[in-house]
Amino acid sequence: MIEDVIDIRTGHPGPTLAVTVLLHGDETCGLAVADAVAAGRIAPGKGRLIVPVMNRPAHTAVGGPRRHLGTDMNRLWCEAGIAADRPEAVRARAVLPLLREADAILDLHSLPHQDVPFLMRSALRPASEHLADALADVVPRTVIAPPPVNRGPALFETALLPPDTAIVVAECGRHGSADADAVALALVVTALRTHGMIDAPTPIPTVPPFGREGAGTYEFVDEVRLRHGPFRPAASFGGFHPLRRGETYGYDGTHPMVADEDCRILLTRPAVKPGDEALTLVRRKVGDGRWTGRDTPQDQRSPA
Ligand SMILES: [Zn+2]
Repeated sequence: MIEDVIDIRTGHPGPTLAVTVLLHGDETCGLAVADAVAAGRIAPGKGRLIVPVMNRPAHTAVGGPRRHLGTDMNRLWCEAGIAADRPEAVRARAVLPLLREADAILDLHSLPHQDVPFLMRSALRPASEHLADALADVVPRTVIAPPPVNRGPALFETALLPPDTAIVVAECGRHGSADADAVALALVVTALRTHGMIDAPTPIPTVPPFGREGAGTYEFVDEVRLRHGPFRPAASFGGFHPLRRGETYGYDGTHPMVADEDCRILLTRPAVKPGDEALTLVRRKVGDGRWTGRDTPQDQRSPA
């Protein structure tokens, strides 16, 4: 018995779905899911649903919720990382055997400044594609992340779990927003339905009207690091903001930062000094079956 894990075994044959929540202690949309499952408002009829609350101590920390208590729990999913004698590593080690029993994992997160939700899956784990495609009914933007460089692996790209386990990250919206909670709930109901674990009448909770703006599959262009600092964005970017080639999107100190190609700003970070990651740029993935070129002005004008 592992502490702070909701584990519902229906007794009927079916897959095992894990929904990891609060991997970062200040990203509370997953708690809406944990509450709904604990109260029986989301109830699987087949298989097994596991909801590990990953970092409750960071959430209940003195002074308010924090991302972590010293170690980012989403940068330690390798043998050396989970072997450390730190609270986050100890917890990851404790939950890992449960996650190994899952056929699919939905990892719920939120962001400080971004309302537009998106999904992420790892290029290292092709088995995640079908789950991301199913969840696109709720969140139609998926980013395929390249293998990690200069940082420890996140849960969704870990080699500690079987290669055929589907793992999808959902960035559900802005920290603490009701919209992010609604997106998280809708994703979980959709994941259960996709796996045949709930019966058809269960309604999918209403999701906020982000629509299909920017719908598609994306790959990384660049994680832009500062050379000078600080980073001053040219505007307040709400997520998936389209950029034209040649457009100035911010300043690195006094130096203009210019897009090398048509792309989108996935997210910005509060970068200050040289070497800090300021933002992530993504482009449409060519050959994703839905798109065969770059963004066009027409695409920006007419979200379906
Ligand atoms: Zn997070």
